[in-house]
Amino acid sequence: MTAFTYRDNHYCVEGVPLKRIADACGTPFYCYSRAEVEARYDDYVSALQNFDALVCFAVKANSNQAIIKLLAARGAGADVVSEGELRRALAAGVPASKIVYSGVAKTVREIEFALQQEIRQFNVESEPELEEISAAAVRLGKTARVAFRINPDVDAGTHEKISTGKSENKFGIPLASSRAAYEKAAGLPGIEVCGVDLHIGSQITNLTPFKNAFTKIAELALKLRSDGHTISSIDLGGGLGINYDEKHDNAPSAAEYADVVEETLGDLGCDVIVEPGRSLVANAGILVGSVIYIKQSSQKTFLIIDAAMNDFLRPSMYDSYHAIAGGRKNGGADILYDIVGPVCETGDTFARQRRLPEQKPGDLIIIEAAGAYGSVMASTYNTRPLVPEVLVDGDEFRIIRQRPSYDSIIGLDRTWEDAD
Ligand SMILES: *Cc1c(COP(=O)(O)O)cnc(C)c1O
Repeated sequence: MTAFTYRDNHYCVEGVPLKRIADACGTPFYCYSRAEVEARYDDYVSALQNFDALVCFAVKANSNQAIIKLLAARGAGADVVSEGELRRALAAGVPASKIVYSGVAKTVREIEFALQQEIRQFNVESEPELEEISAAAVRLGKTARVAFRINPDVDAGTHEKISTGKSENKFGIPLASSRAAYEKAAGLPGIEVCGVDLHIGSQITNLTPFKNAFTKIAELALKLRSDGHTISSIDLGGGLGINYDEKHDNAPSAAEYADVVEETLGDLGCDVIVEPGRSLVANAGILVGSVIYIKQSSQKTFLIIDAAMNDFLRPSMYDSYHAIAGGRKNGGADILYDIVGPVCETGDTFARQRRLPEQKPGDLIIIEAAGAYGSVMASTYNTRPLVPEVLVDGDEFRIIRQRPSYDSIIGLDRTWEDAD
């Protein structure tokens, strides 16, 4: 998070004091650093340069057009999991030839749209889905390039809600039935087999699960080739973790990850696709709120801020740890705060018992490493408008998503009398 530092005791993003942004757009808001996003992307490209890898940004981690566009301008592709994300990637300028379509169950409508765009590859998750893709391709006179998502049955050692590569998870097809699945694909019209795919989970901070999974995939690729299939590309998914908690996490670098790729898949002579989401954008973003009230209970001091669980779900959904900082270093006494939002649920808690300089109403509070799975998971629960997003580039900032008006939110509804 080098783009996020104090200068003259004020929290800054690159060259911009946070207070300036808060004055311009009000709190809460998300704020991203362009330099940080680009640096993390460049890390992957240089780490994987021997493979000439295609880095497909997993758009679900942060799907703002401005973020996708700056990655696309650097050569990134996109990994999408819905028609909406596919439309976002195309609109931001990602060429269809660099878009892979993942996702556990693509609808016929989504498949048809993707075929019309002539995307690079479908990552297929079941035989019924394969049949739908084949039928749609025949109807539209197109060819679908497909890889099966293989479930390698490895434990990614991550939070159970984001572990996807165990046999009991809903994702992919089992290794044991994969050769039969490829046999079936080879016989279907409108289908061209191009490779294999996997994605074992998210926030993985230990390389062993990757190593185990990639080893199994390399063995499978050889068997599939001996069965007569063309396996020219391997899509390794995403999942590399980041350090949320500097004291406890020890996430590997892109370079260390690339060493594992080299070791396990280096001899196959395949194109490599990776689909990082979190590791590109998490540390490039923060959520900024301001203190509404400080409430003293008999046991605790609550810092109640204007950001809430609907704006940032990770702490309540995954019990995730996020570093929290004050907008100013004021030299005041450190106080233990429980930092909470105003939503009517106890789960609306960002952190418990955190030491911060003494705060007062109106002070800015920064929730760090919120650039991935932050704004994209927000809702309007409690009829709280989605919070704006801001991108900083050097000494400049721009609002890359406006705060919606109350009228635009309420105006989506129709009373019985007004509805058609
Ligand atoms: C979510 C997801 C990713 C990105 O995962 P990160 O942990 O954010 O890197 C990549 N590929 C697929 C198929 C996904 O579902």
